[in-house]
Amino acid sequence: MPDIAIIGAGPAGTSAAVYAARADQETYVFHDGGGTTREVDVMENVFGFPEGVSGPELVSLGREHARKFGAEFVDEEVVRIGRTDGEAYEIETTADSYEARGVVIATGASYESPAIKGVDEFEGQGVSYCVECDAYFYRDSTVAVVGAENYAAKEALMLLDYTDDVQVLTNGSEFAADPDLRQRLDDEGIPVRTDRLDRLTGDESVQAIETRDGESIAVDGLFVALGAAGGTDLAEMLGVATEGQYVRTDGSMETNVDRVYAAGDVTGGQRQVNTSVGEGTRAAINLLEDFRDTGEYVDYQKLDDAKSEDGKPEATAD
Ligand SMILES: Cc1cc2nc3c(=O)[nH]c(=O)nc-3n(C[C@H](O)[C@H](O)[C@H](O)COP(=O)(O)OP(=O)(O)OC[C@H]3O[C@@H](n4cnc5c(N)ncnc54)[C@H](O)[C@@H]3O)c2cc1C
Repeated sequence: MPDIAIIGAGPAGTSAAVYAARADQETYVFHDGGGTTREVDVMENVFGFPEGVSGPELVSLGREHARKFGAEFVDEEVVRIGRTDGEAYEIETTADSYEARGVVIATGASYESPAIKGVDEFEGQGVSYCVECDAYFYRDSTVAVVGAENYAAKEALMLLDYTDDVQVLTNGSEFAADPDLRQRLDDEGIPVRTDRLDRLTGDESVQAIETRDGESIAVDGLFVALGAAGGTDLAEMLGVATEGQYVRTDGSMETNVDRVYAAGDVTGGQRQVNTSVGEGTRAAINLLEDFRDTGEYVDYQKLDDAKSEDGKPEATAD
């Protein structure tokens, strides 16, 4: 089991990975090919780069740095985080699932609201951004998930725990979930509609979605799952407090959930590379400190000093 799972391989996640891996904790860094830096041609205010640096170049150097200390980069989109029966966290990606003792959420700022009239007005009154949090309120109701990728497909399947009446609405986009997820939707009888959506209607809460073609799709609940799961979506699955599109942390970057930290743009604030790097650093150092406090920290230097005859250290907690 990896010690630390870092969700996001931008400046925040990668700097956390440098510290975690260098402290010889088994560190997995998940990334889905997105991230803000992808779009940045040149940044002139990043510490250590007087000539400027592009976003992709910066991230590539950061990853090389973290890899040097043993961090493992996993090119998979995280779609769900939960707790195991024990004290660990389970990280589910589109391809696999992993367990870790500590988590750093460093997914950058992403919060996509669909361009459908009434979505903001009905938030909390039929519109939800969190299946894990709100599906319970829609037991045996008619629900839809708006989204066109793996995340939407996973959320739709998750809703089956609460109701049989689930559909996916891509809002005009081509449905781009992986083939095995599409097959699972088919097997479960979850229809995928590609109509362009215009507005939500209802009195106190949502009752229907009008399409641009004037059709009315009756729903009691609409779950938004656009793009990849954002940091707040993942955070809410764990009961981590969020504020609007941001994850709430204290000054040490810790959330209200044990051994779950957040860093970088996902926490709001200045949304700059240098601050993201600083927050990633702080998150990793404090998480390592938590491991020490609970006796879970493995000090490999000490183990090296006391290597057994076959040269393999026997892992024991401090
Ligand atoms: C056009 C533009 C110009 C900018 N110029 C500057 C500048 O000049 N100077 C400056 O300091 N800052 C600048 N910024 C801001 C800077 O890019 C961000 O502050 C910084 O990248 C934030 O780092 P981060 O690690 O928090 O998030 P990001 O860099 O956004 O990284 C997020 C990571 O999370 C991963 N991820 C997200 N969701 C998932 C998921 N579900 N599963 C797996 N992985 C996931 C992504 O793959 C990515 O690796 C600019 C931003 C933009 C858009």
